[in-house]
Amino acid sequence: MWMDLFEGSKAVTVFVSHVSAHKQVISAEEDFNNQVDRITPLDTTQPLAAATPVIAPWAHEQSGHGGRDRGYTWAQQHGLPLTKADLATATTECPICHQQSPTLSP
Ligand SMILES: [Zn+2]
Repeated sequence: MWMDLFEGSKAVTVFVSHVSAHKQVISAEEDFNNQVDRITPLDTTQPLAAATPVIAPWAHEQSGHGGRDRGYTWAQQHGLPLTKADLATATTECPICHQQSPTLSP
């Protein structure tokens, strides 16, 4: 099954294509969340909109949990088609940020 696809460097591209074709892979997205730390994306030539709920939290984490604007800047620098709203949601829902002081943002 598709889980095996994570073995390859094209995992994200394949995954995005999979989501685009089949949008009812909710459990698959959750699994992807668990895997995403180990993956080095991204082929930005691929449409990522379908994977935004997965990519946004990832970008937030990669930016160092710096909040909406920092995550957005990081995403822009890496060519990710994420909006500030996407990063705001990712920040709000980040379990790690929830464990820290909410006054961290500058
Ligand atoms: Zn965070």
